[in-house]
Amino acid sequence: MISTLEFSSNPKASILIVYTGGTLGMDYDENGSLVPCDFERVVARIPVLKELNINLSVISFNPPIDSSNVKTEHWVQIGQTIKDNYAAFDGFIVLHGTDTMAYSASALSFMLQGLNKPVIFTGAQLPIASPRSDGRENFVTALEIAADRREGIPVVSEVCIFFNHLLLRGNRSKKVESHHFDAFESENYPALAEAGIVIDYNYTALKAYDPTARLIFYPELKDDIVILKLFPGINQKAVSHILSTPSVKGVIMESYGSGNVPHQPWFLSMLEDAVNKDVVVLNVSQCNGGNVIQGKYEASSALNRIGIISGRDLTTEAATTKMMHLFGRSTDPQEIKRNLTTAISGEMN
Ligand code: ASP
Repeated sequence: MISTLEFSSNPKASILIVYTGGTLGMDYDENGSLVPCDFERVVARIPVLKELNINLSVISFNPPIDSSNVKTEHWVQIGQTIKDNYAAFDGFIVLHGTDTMAYSASALSFMLQGLNKPVIFTGAQLPIASPRSDGRENFVTALEIAADRREGIPVVSEVCIFFNHLLLRGNRSKKVESHHFDAFESENYPALAEAGIVIDYNYTALKAYDPTARLIFYPELKDDIVILKLFPGINQKAVSHILSTPSVKGVIMESYGSGNVPHQPWFLSMLEDAVNKDVVVLNVSQCNGGNVIQGKYEASSALNRIGIISGRDLTTEAATTKMMHLFGRSTDPQEIKRNLTTAISGEMN
Protein backbone atom coordinates (compact mmCIF):
# COMPACT_ATOMS: atom_id res chain seq x y z
CA MET A 1 0.00 0.00 0.00
CA ILE A 2 1.31 3.46 -0.94
CA SER A 3 1.17 6.21 1.68
CA THR A 4 1.74 9.79 0.61
CA LEU A 5 3.40 12.62 2.52
CA GLU A 6 2.27 15.84 0.84
CA PHE A 7 4.77 18.38 2.07
CA SER A 8 4.09 20.99 -0.63
CA SER A 9 1.11 22.14 -2.68
CA ASN A 10 3.43 23.08 -5.56
CA PRO A 11 6.25 20.51 -5.35
CA LYS A 12 9.21 20.50 -7.72
CA ALA A 13 8.86 16.72 -7.96
CA SER A 14 6.96 13.71 -6.70
CA ILE A 15 9.16 10.81 -5.75
CA LEU A 16 8.17 7.24 -4.90
CA ILE A 17 10.29 5.63 -2.20
CA VAL A 18 10.51 1.85 -2.13
CA TYR A 19 11.55 1.12 1.43
CA THR A 20 13.03 -2.37 1.60
CA GLY A 21 14.86 -2.11 4.96
CA GLY A 22 18.58 -2.16 5.79
CA THR A 23 20.55 -0.26 8.40
CA LEU A 24 19.26 3.18 7.38
CA GLY A 25 15.76 2.46 8.63
CA MET A 26 16.72 0.77 11.87
CA ASP A 27 15.84 2.19 15.27
CA TYR A 28 16.34 0.98 18.82
CA ASP A 29 13.67 -1.20 20.41
CA GLU A 30 12.88 -1.20 24.13
CA ASN A 31 15.78 -3.62 24.75
CA GLY A 32 18.27 -1.36 23.00
CA SER A 33 18.64 -3.63 19.91
CA LEU A 34 18.57 -2.34 16.35
CA VAL A 35 15.47 -3.48 14.49
CA PRO A 36 13.98 -2.35 11.17
CA CYS A 37 11.36 0.32 11.87
CA ASP A 38 8.49 1.75 9.87
CA PHE A 39 8.93 4.66 7.52
CA GLU A 40 7.09 7.23 9.70
CA ARG A 41 9.88 6.86 12.25
CA VAL A 42 12.48 7.44 9.54
CA VAL A 43 10.73 10.68 8.54
CA ALA A 44 10.50 11.76 12.16
CA ARG A 45 14.29 11.37 12.40
CA ILE A 46 14.87 13.54 9.28
CA PRO A 47 12.63 16.61 9.71
CA VAL A 48 14.39 18.40 6.83
CA LEU A 49 12.54 16.08 4.41
CA LYS A 50 9.54 18.38 4.81
CA GLU A 51 11.53 21.34 3.48
CA LEU A 52 12.78 19.90 0.19
CA ASN A 53 9.70 20.94 -1.79
CA ILE A 54 9.38 17.33 -2.91
CA ASN A 55 6.28 15.25 -2.28
CA LEU A 56 7.09 11.76 -1.09
CA SER A 57 5.10 8.59 -1.46
CA VAL A 58 6.25 5.43 0.21
CA ILE A 59 5.70 1.77 -0.34
CA SER A 60 7.33 -0.51 2.23
CA PHE A 61 8.38 -4.11 2.29
CA ASN A 62 6.36 -5.80 4.99
CA PRO A 63 8.38 -6.58 7.03
CA PRO A 64 11.46 -4.54 6.01
CA ILE A 65 14.44 -6.85 5.50
CA ASP A 66 18.16 -6.99 6.09
CA SER A 67 19.53 -7.01 2.55
CA SER A 68 21.47 -10.21 3.17
CA ASN A 69 18.04 -11.86 2.83
CA VAL A 70 17.37 -10.41 -0.64
CA LYS A 71 16.10 -12.95 -3.17
CA THR A 72 15.22 -12.64 -6.83
CA GLU A 73 11.54 -12.33 -5.80
CA HIS A 74 12.39 -9.06 -4.02
CA TRP A 75 13.94 -7.66 -7.22
CA VAL A 76 10.75 -8.56 -9.08
CA GLN A 77 8.75 -6.80 -6.34
CA ILE A 78 10.88 -3.61 -6.62
CA GLY A 79 10.73 -3.67 -10.44
CA GLN A 80 6.98 -4.31 -10.53
CA THR A 81 6.37 -1.44 -8.09
CA ILE A 82 8.37 0.95 -10.27
CA LYS A 83 6.67 -0.28 -13.43
CA ASP A 84 3.16 0.05 -11.96
CA ASN A 85 3.85 3.59 -10.72
CA TYR A 86 6.13 4.78 -13.50
CA ALA A 87 3.81 7.35 -15.05
CA ALA A 88 2.72 8.88 -11.76
CA PHE A 89 6.16 9.84 -10.38
CA ASP A 90 9.19 11.87 -11.46
CA GLY A 91 11.68 9.47 -9.92
CA PHE A 92 12.22 6.55 -7.59
CA ILE A 93 14.38 5.98 -4.52
CA VAL A 94 15.05 2.47 -3.26
CA LEU A 95 16.09 2.45 0.41
CA HIS A 96 18.11 -0.74 0.74
CA GLY A 97 20.73 -2.37 2.94
CA THR A 98 24.27 -1.90 1.75
CA ASP A 99 25.33 -5.57 1.85
CA THR A 100 23.68 -6.57 -1.43
CA MET A 101 22.82 -3.14 -2.81
CA ALA A 102 25.24 -3.51 -5.75
CA TYR A 103 23.57 -6.82 -6.74
CA SER A 104 20.07 -5.34 -6.48
CA ALA A 105 20.98 -2.18 -8.42
CA SER A 106 22.67 -4.32 -11.11
CA ALA A 107 19.65 -6.62 -11.36
CA LEU A 108 17.21 -3.72 -11.67
CA SER A 109 19.36 -2.09 -14.37
CA PHE A 110 18.75 -5.17 -16.54
CA MET A 111 15.12 -5.69 -15.53
CA LEU A 112 14.08 -2.07 -16.17
CA GLN A 113 15.14 -1.10 -19.68
CA GLY A 114 14.17 2.03 -21.60
CA LEU A 115 14.24 4.15 -18.44
CA ASN A 116 13.94 7.88 -18.74
CA LYS A 117 13.48 8.59 -15.05
CA PRO A 118 15.93 8.13 -12.16
CA VAL A 119 15.98 5.01 -9.99
CA ILE A 120 18.41 5.69 -7.13
CA PHE A 121 19.41 3.17 -4.47
CA THR A 122 20.69 4.47 -1.16
CA GLY A 123 21.12 3.36 2.43
CA ALA A 124 23.45 3.92 5.36
CA GLN A 125 26.32 2.48 7.35
CA LEU A 126 24.86 3.83 10.60
CA PRO A 127 21.16 3.67 11.46
CA ILE A 128 19.07 6.81 11.26
CA ALA A 129 18.59 6.53 15.02
CA SER A 130 22.28 7.22 15.52
CA PRO A 131 23.25 10.92 15.92
CA ARG A 132 26.15 10.44 13.44
CA SER A 133 24.13 8.52 10.87
CA ASP A 134 25.20 8.94 7.26
CA GLY A 135 21.63 8.03 6.32
CA ARG A 136 20.31 11.61 6.47
CA GLU A 137 22.85 12.99 4.03
CA ASN A 138 22.56 9.98 1.71
CA PHE A 139 18.78 10.04 1.64
CA VAL A 140 18.35 13.82 1.31
CA THR A 141 20.91 14.14 -1.50
CA ALA A 142 19.52 11.10 -3.32
CA LEU A 143 16.12 12.82 -3.24
CA GLU A 144 17.60 16.07 -4.58
CA ILE A 145 19.24 14.14 -7.43
CA ALA A 146 16.05 12.22 -8.22
CA ALA A 147 14.19 15.53 -8.44
CA ASP A 148 16.81 17.36 -10.52
CA ARG A 149 15.92 18.47 -14.03
CA ARG A 150 17.92 20.33 -16.62
CA GLU A 151 16.06 22.18 -19.37
CA GLY A 152 12.93 20.32 -18.33
CA ILE A 153 14.31 16.78 -18.56
CA PRO A 154 15.54 14.53 -15.75
CA VAL A 155 19.28 14.77 -15.22
CA VAL A 156 19.48 11.07 -14.32
CA SER A 157 17.64 8.42 -16.34
CA GLU A 158 19.23 5.20 -15.15
CA VAL A 159 19.65 2.93 -12.12
CA CYS A 160 22.28 4.36 -9.74
CA ILE A 161 23.63 4.11 -6.23
CA PHE A 162 24.09 7.32 -4.25
CA PHE A 163 26.37 6.90 -1.25
CA ASN A 164 28.78 9.11 0.66
CA HIS A 165 28.77 12.03 -1.80
CA LEU A 166 29.05 9.90 -4.94
CA LEU A 167 26.46 8.97 -7.52
CA LEU A 168 27.62 5.75 -9.19
CA ARG A 169 26.17 3.68 -12.00
CA GLY A 170 24.40 0.79 -10.23
CA ASN A 171 25.78 -1.99 -12.40
CA ARG A 172 29.37 -0.67 -12.06
CA SER A 173 29.32 -0.48 -8.26
CA LYS A 174 30.73 -2.71 -5.57
CA LYS A 175 30.51 -2.62 -1.79
CA VAL A 176 34.14 -2.28 -0.73
CA GLU A 177 33.93 -1.10 2.88
CA SER A 178 31.93 -2.20 5.92
CA HIS A 179 33.46 0.14 8.49
CA HIS A 180 33.87 3.59 6.95
CA PHE A 181 31.23 5.68 5.23
CA ASP A 182 32.70 5.34 1.72
CA ALA A 183 31.10 1.94 1.21
CA PHE A 184 30.86 1.90 -2.61
CA GLU A 185 33.26 2.20 -5.49
CA SER A 186 33.03 1.98 -9.24
CA GLU A 187 36.60 1.43 -10.37
CA ASN A 188 35.89 0.85 -14.03
CA TYR A 189 33.53 3.76 -14.61
CA PRO A 190 33.67 7.38 -13.46
CA ALA A 191 31.29 8.71 -10.81
CA LEU A 192 28.11 10.14 -12.38
CA ALA A 193 28.03 13.00 -9.87
CA GLU A 194 29.79 14.27 -6.81
CA ALA A 195 27.83 16.07 -4.12
CA GLY A 196 29.76 18.87 -2.47
CA ILE A 197 28.44 22.38 -1.98
CA VAL A 198 26.66 21.79 -5.28
CA ILE A 199 25.84 18.55 -7.03
CA ASP A 200 28.44 18.35 -9.74
CA TYR A 201 27.14 16.09 -12.53
CA ASN A 202 29.44 14.30 -14.93
CA TYR A 203 27.29 14.75 -18.03
CA THR A 204 29.57 12.79 -20.31
CA ALA A 205 29.37 9.73 -18.03
CA LEU A 206 25.61 9.87 -17.38
CA LYS A 207 23.42 7.86 -19.72
CA ALA A 208 21.91 10.26 -22.28
CA TYR A 209 18.19 10.96 -21.86
CA ASP A 210 16.21 9.37 -24.66
CA PRO A 211 12.83 11.04 -25.29
CA THR A 212 11.67 8.04 -27.33
CA ALA A 213 12.52 5.47 -24.63
CA ARG A 214 9.63 3.38 -23.35
CA LEU A 215 9.97 1.38 -20.15
CA ILE A 216 10.17 -2.38 -20.63
CA PHE A 217 10.09 -4.52 -17.50
CA TYR A 218 11.71 -7.97 -17.67
CA PRO A 219 10.63 -9.82 -14.52
CA GLU A 220 11.98 -13.24 -15.52
CA LEU A 221 15.19 -14.29 -13.75
CA LYS A 222 16.74 -17.77 -13.71
CA ASP A 223 18.96 -18.71 -10.81
CA ASP A 224 20.68 -21.81 -12.26
CA ILE A 225 24.10 -20.23 -12.04
CA VAL A 226 27.18 -20.65 -9.86
CA ILE A 227 30.35 -18.67 -9.11
CA LEU A 228 33.66 -20.49 -9.44
CA LYS A 229 36.22 -18.42 -7.56
CA LEU A 230 39.79 -19.53 -8.28
CA PHE A 231 42.48 -19.65 -5.62
CA PRO A 232 45.98 -21.15 -5.70
CA GLY A 233 45.60 -24.81 -4.77
CA ILE A 234 41.97 -25.20 -5.84
CA ASN A 235 41.58 -28.92 -6.43
CA GLN A 236 39.99 -31.09 -9.06
CA LYS A 237 37.22 -32.35 -6.72
CA ALA A 238 36.05 -28.84 -5.89
CA VAL A 239 36.04 -27.64 -9.52
CA SER A 240 34.31 -30.80 -10.71
CA HIS A 241 31.68 -30.44 -7.99
CA ILE A 242 30.91 -26.81 -8.86
CA LEU A 243 30.79 -27.40 -12.61
CA SER A 244 28.49 -30.40 -12.24
CA THR A 245 25.96 -28.65 -9.99
CA PRO A 246 22.58 -30.11 -11.01
CA SER A 247 20.79 -28.04 -13.69
CA VAL A 248 23.57 -25.41 -13.81
CA LYS A 249 23.32 -23.27 -16.94
CA GLY A 250 25.85 -20.55 -16.31
CA VAL A 251 29.17 -20.24 -14.48
CA ILE A 252 30.78 -16.95 -13.49
CA MET A 253 34.49 -17.80 -13.25
CA GLU A 254 36.34 -15.30 -11.05
CA SER A 255 39.86 -15.52 -12.44
CA TYR A 256 43.09 -13.71 -11.58
CA GLY A 257 44.28 -10.33 -12.86
CA SER A 258 43.48 -9.79 -16.51
CA GLY A 259 41.55 -13.07 -16.78
CA ASN A 260 44.25 -15.62 -16.05
CA VAL A 261 43.62 -19.22 -14.98
CA PRO A 262 45.90 -22.15 -14.12
CA HIS A 263 46.77 -23.96 -17.32
CA GLN A 264 46.87 -27.47 -15.88
CA PRO A 265 45.29 -29.88 -18.39
CA TRP A 266 42.70 -31.20 -15.87
CA PHE A 267 41.39 -27.69 -15.24
CA LEU A 268 41.13 -26.69 -18.90
CA SER A 269 39.52 -29.98 -19.86
CA MET A 270 36.87 -29.60 -17.13
CA LEU A 271 36.02 -26.14 -18.47
CA GLU A 272 35.89 -27.52 -22.00
CA ASP A 273 33.57 -30.37 -20.96
CA ALA A 274 31.23 -27.87 -19.31
CA VAL A 275 31.15 -25.68 -22.45
CA ASN A 276 30.51 -28.78 -24.60
CA LYS A 277 27.49 -29.51 -22.41
CA ASP A 278 26.14 -26.01 -23.27
CA VAL A 279 27.06 -24.48 -19.92
CA VAL A 280 27.88 -20.80 -20.47
CA VAL A 281 31.14 -19.86 -18.72
CA LEU A 282 31.84 -16.14 -18.24
CA ASN A 283 35.30 -15.02 -17.17
CA VAL A 284 35.45 -12.02 -14.79
CA SER A 285 38.42 -10.83 -12.78
CA GLN A 286 38.90 -10.93 -9.02
CA CYS A 287 40.38 -7.41 -9.36
CA ASN A 288 38.04 -4.47 -8.81
CA GLY A 289 39.58 -2.49 -11.64
CA GLY A 290 40.82 -3.40 -15.12
CA ASN A 291 39.77 -5.74 -17.86
CA VAL A 292 39.75 -9.43 -18.71
CA ILE A 293 41.91 -9.80 -21.83
CA GLN A 294 41.90 -13.48 -22.81
CA GLY A 295 45.13 -14.35 -24.57
CA LYS A 296 47.22 -11.54 -23.08
CA TYR A 297 49.18 -14.14 -21.11
CA GLU A 298 49.77 -17.78 -21.95
CA ALA A 299 47.73 -18.51 -18.80
CA SER A 300 44.53 -17.35 -20.51
CA SER A 301 45.30 -18.16 -24.14
CA ALA A 302 43.36 -21.46 -24.18
CA LEU A 303 40.15 -19.83 -23.00
CA ASN A 304 39.10 -18.33 -26.35
CA ARG A 305 39.62 -21.68 -28.09
CA ILE A 306 37.55 -23.52 -25.43
CA GLY A 307 34.68 -21.05 -25.82
CA ILE A 308 34.89 -19.18 -22.50
CA ILE A 309 33.28 -15.73 -22.75
CA SER A 310 35.36 -12.76 -21.68
CA GLY A 311 33.46 -10.66 -19.14
CA ARG A 312 35.83 -7.73 -19.91
CA ASP A 313 35.32 -5.15 -17.14
CA LEU A 314 32.09 -6.53 -15.65
CA THR A 315 31.79 -6.68 -11.87
CA THR A 316 30.81 -10.04 -10.39
CA GLU A 317 27.57 -8.40 -9.23
CA ALA A 318 26.70 -7.27 -12.76
CA ALA A 319 27.86 -10.58 -14.30
CA THR A 320 25.69 -12.64 -11.94
CA THR A 321 22.53 -10.60 -12.41
CA LYS A 322 23.06 -10.19 -16.16
CA MET A 323 23.25 -13.98 -16.51
CA MET A 324 20.09 -14.41 -14.43
CA HIS A 325 18.36 -11.88 -16.67
CA LEU A 326 19.58 -13.38 -19.96
CA PHE A 327 18.66 -16.95 -18.94
CA GLY A 328 15.25 -15.57 -17.97
CA ARG A 329 14.81 -14.25 -21.50
CA SER A 330 16.24 -17.07 -23.58
CA THR A 331 17.08 -20.75 -23.47
CA ASP A 332 19.51 -20.57 -26.39
CA PRO A 333 23.14 -20.63 -25.09
CA GLN A 334 24.43 -19.08 -28.34
CA GLU A 335 22.10 -16.11 -28.00
CA ILE A 336 23.03 -15.75 -24.33
CA LYS A 337 26.74 -15.79 -25.19
CA ARG A 338 26.19 -13.08 -27.83
CA ASN A 339 24.29 -10.90 -25.36
CA LEU A 340 26.96 -11.38 -22.71
CA THR A 341 29.46 -9.69 -25.01
CA THR A 342 27.19 -6.69 -25.63
CA ALA A 343 26.44 -3.92 -23.12
CA ILE A 344 22.71 -3.83 -22.32
CA SER A 345 22.59 -1.10 -19.66
CA GLY A 346 26.03 0.49 -19.65
CA GLU A 347 27.48 -2.33 -17.53
CA MET A 348 30.68 -2.78 -19.55
CA ASN A 349 32.92 -0.89 -21.92
N1 ASP B 1 23.11 -5.90 6.94
C1 ASP B 1 22.66 -4.59 6.51
C2 ASP B 1 21.90 -4.77 5.20
O1 ASP B 1 22.53 -4.91 4.18
C3 ASP B 1 23.82 -3.68 6.35
C4 ASP B 1 23.47 -2.30 5.84
O2 ASP B 1 22.36 -1.94 5.58
O3 ASP B 1 24.41 -1.52 5.74
O4 ASP B 1 20.69 -4.78 5.22
